[in-house]
Amino acid sequence: MSDETKELRKKLFSTKKNGYDKLTDDDLSRMEAYCRAYMAFLDAGKTERLCAAEAIRLAEEKGYRPFVRGMEVKAGDKLYVCNRGKSVMLAHIGEKPLAQGVQIAAAHIDSPRLDLKPNPLYEDSELAYFKTHYYGGIRKYQWVTIPLELHGVVALKDGTAAAVNIGADAGDPRLVITDLLPHLGMEQSKKPLGEAVPGETLNLLLGSRPLGDEEDTGRVKLAVMKLLHEKYGITEDDFTSAELEAVPAANACDIGLDRSMIGAYGHDDRVCGYAALRALLDLEKTPARTAVCMLADKEEIGSDGVTGMQSAAFDTFLEDLCESQNTALRVCYAASFCLSADVTAAYDPDYGEVYEKRNAAYLNYGIGLCKYTGARGKSGASDADAETVAYVRRLFDEAGVLWQIAELGKVDAGGGGTVAMYMANRNITTLDAGVPVLSMHAPFETVAKLDCYETYLGMKAVYMAGKGTF
Ligand code: MN
Ligand code: MN
Repeated sequence: MSDETKELRKKLFSTKKNGYDKLTDDDLSRMEAYCRAYMAFLDAGKTERLCAAEAIRLAEEKGYRPFVRGMEVKAGDKLYVCNRGKSVMLAHIGEKPLAQGVQIAAAHIDSPRLDLKPNPLYEDSELAYFKTHYYGGIRKYQWVTIPLELHGVVALKDGTAAAVNIGADAGDPRLVITDLLPHLGMEQSKKPLGEAVPGETLNLLLGSRPLGDEEDTGRVKLAVMKLLHEKYGITEDDFTSAELEAVPAANACDIGLDRSMIGAYGHDDRVCGYAALRALLDLEKTPARTAVCMLADKEEIGSDGVTGMQSAAFDTFLEDLCESQNTALRVCYAASFCLSADVTAAYDPDYGEVYEKRNAAYLNYGIGLCKYTGARGKSGASDADAETVAYVRRLFDEAGVLWQIAELGKVDAGGGGTVAMYMANRNITTLDAGVPVLSMHAPFETVAKLDCYETYLGMKAVYMAGKGTF
């Protein structure tokens, strides 16, 4: 190849590289330290409530304090509001007035799981079970025969609540959902994957040891209820006002002989949630524009509900901040930018047929921008404009953040949504971006450490961006 064509290639062709060909040894050790802290966050936050509590604990360590409506707000202030224990909004007030907009990173901290039904407890054939109703898009066959733990609250009529944790502490018993043995699974094996494990068979096995006399009925159920009463002071009717969530009983761990990846439950979307939070907490100086971190609930079921991204809770938080500077919320929104931080599908060579190779996200290529998500003809997508993508390209390039741009799967293979459109609907300029994930929504998902770290750097760049418009 002549020098001239070499130069032309370098100048004209895309220069995307595997991140390991770019990062220095110092980068790699910072990445490792970041990922250790992220893994601890995952282990502490297996539900949205636990995540919210851990986020607040970390924020308070860094000087964040609860925001109260009417409070005086000035540059450098670090404030947060927790929405009903399940969603957290944080702001580091910037030098510029809120009328000039805020820089938002929005992620969600709810993950697919199995919720208990309101009348969950029953006994069948002298075995006790909890009935569940799945939350979010799960592949039901993945949730059988794996150890599960249970977290949540039982709210009592007297206004108190019992925090439930079964299975997370060392030495705790675990729960499980059984499956057919292959010897008797002939008919089941002929069914389509989506039908082989019906939702009503996702019942958590709780016990087998009876309590009482031989002629009694419901003896195992009674024994289980007695144990729950002893530990939490609850009765069967209290399940009516409970939120109990069964999640995989496994902590985050390194994946691969080279330890380059992390396996865990709940990467979607705590991997972006943690990046958005940590980046905010790590800001070394007051940002030019106010930096806002939104950790939303309910994304996995459509962002509806009072703790979801469609709730006015976010507007209320921002409007309260704006009022402290006599600014109209709409003025702030119109000048704001949001990075909707949610995971994307990583290219999986075992299932290459559902991806389009030229527009797939790859492990170790950095944070994945998504101009649009959605399904079919971009239905349900925010579909950012070219100018917004250019703004983020510049932002990331200037900050040295490794990024790639991708679609979630090939055209008409399926699709997915994020909170992006709910931010965009507020008249906030928004772009999707997040960590590529293998086996997304499985009880055990895999991400690359490099992408986790680059996403954190990307969030920092968003918060610190003070100049230019889009
Ligand atoms: Mn997500
Ligand atoms: Mn999801």
